[in-house]
Amino acid sequence: MNDHVDGNMLAGALWQVFRPDITTAEARCAGCGMTGPVAGLHVYTAAAGTVGRCPNCQQVTLQMVQSTHAMWLSTAGLSYLRFPNQG
Ligand SMILES: [Zn+2]
Repeated sequence: MNDHVDGNMLAGALWQVFRPDITTAEARCAGCGMTGPVAGLHVYTAAAGTVGRCPNCQQVTLQMVQSTHAMWLSTAGLSYLRFPNQG
């Protein structure tokens, strides 16, 4: 018996996460545990992609690379992103 559904089931929930302005989400650095808005990250754009670093410990918290065909986003340096409930 099949006990699961496919990832399309997540569409509604993920819409609630990614629809708001992500810069207002609270991010927790996986390195030092500091929390703050994504807008508070130190962002560097000199490399091939964009890198966001923790303003406290300088750990790379997120990376974005865009090509003509796709965008990659890594949040491996974050423990979490927290989005407040929308009205
Ligand atoms: Zn940190």
